[in-house]
Amino acid sequence: MKREDAEKDFIREKFREYYAKEDVVLIPTDFERREFGFLLFDEGMLRHKGFKSPSELHKFLRDFTPSNVYYSCAYYENPEARMDEKGWLGADLIFDIDADHIPTPCKKNHDTWICPNCGFAGRGENPGKCPNCGSEKFETRIWACELCLEAAKAETLKLLDMLLEDFGFSEKEIAVFFSGHRGYHVHVEGSAVRGLDSVARKEIVDYVSGLGLDPSFHGLRQTRYGAARLIQGPNLDDEGWRGRIAKGVYDFVLTASEEDFLRVGLPRKTAKTLVENRGKILESWKDNGPWSIVKGVGLESWKKIVARGIYSQSAKIDTVVTTDIHRLIRLGGTLHGKTGMRKVLVDSLRVEEFDPLKEGIAFKKGFVKVFVAESPKLRVGDEYFGPFKSQTVELPTAAAMLLLCKGAAKVVKGHV
Ligand SMILES: [Zn+2]
Ligand SMILES: [Zn+2]
Repeated sequence: MKREDAEKDFIREKFREYYAKEDVVLIPTDFERREFGFLLFDEGMLRHKGFKSPSELHKFLRDFTPSNVYYSCAYYENPEARMDEKGWLGADLIFDIDADHIPTPCKKNHDTWICPNCGFAGRGENPGKCPNCGSEKFETRIWACELCLEAAKAETLKLLDMLLEDFGFSEKEIAVFFSGHRGYHVHVEGSAVRGLDSVARKEIVDYVSGLGLDPSFHGLRQTRYGAARLIQGPNLDDEGWRGRIAKGVYDFVLTASEEDFLRVGLPRKTAKTLVENRGKILESWKDNGPWSIVKGVGLESWKKIVARGIYSQSAKIDTVVTTDIHRLIRLGGTLHGKTGMRKVLVDSLRVEEFDPLKEGIAFKKGFVKVFVAESPKLRVGDEYFGPFKSQTVELPTAAAMLLLCKGAAKVVKGHV
């Protein structure tokens, strides 16, 4: 037996132990109307499965022990039929927030890539084209670090605020999950969303992404009083994107350095004026005063600052997931094959204090001795491990599973 098979068998055995426990899986609404899909350790993807009862699903998980478990956001007449014969009845509205889509500076410390064609390797996101041989295929190893997960959480909180405040969904209709890897899933259920087609879902995507917003339709305007020009903008207490634009601009003007202003495309003189007068500007805003309280910042400059404000207020979601009305998504309570952590429901009232690296842990008992080829410093639960390079260590099962699932470690015989 090859070493790789030994690791796979070890992981599968642990997964089997996990699924042997009752009630680990969260059963979705209208369970029997959902299509299920599985990534199996050996045989690839299996989909178009349907189950009559949760106990049937539990039995399947115990018998086949998949590496990843998915179900459809859609409801079907016949979940097991071919795609065009399933009879689509509607779908939940799903948002996927993944650190992949958020530019975090720590990726260059913990993510690695290698070109399998020539062996050229590097850190951070893969360059798209190998600088050495031009190949466009890469093997990557990405990690869910605390900072990446915090960034994903911040995007999730912005999304939740829009769903509750702007769309008017109730807390009951929204469920937030840690994905088990690098981000969060937000599920919206109910009659208001079920029948929406892809085009309607794209509208929602554009709204939360702040796409195509023209600030002149959201209160940014210039008026003339004889020779004097007055620039006005949206107010902090406005609803919807007006208020969000004002908040984004306020936060940026409050904290930006001269360099930050230059980076959004302002002339140096304007940038200097803003840094020197920000107190005066923001003071005026408190009484919904004009944006043109200081001279030397014109409408074009404000538009550039507004674009930056929109970017910071928008929620960075994986747009493809939301618009796909047949999408398979990871089932709550199941394990993520790349981490050995579980997709877990987050209490919507305490998203901010939720700790994914603690509450996502599925394997809480025991230790495993592993040889780690290479890994960055990791937190699992309350403990930090590594960085490791070519060393044998005994680790709590959850930390060992993470390294094994990432393909960064091998089990050392005689593990406890
Ligand atoms: Zn190459
Ligand atoms: Zn990171």
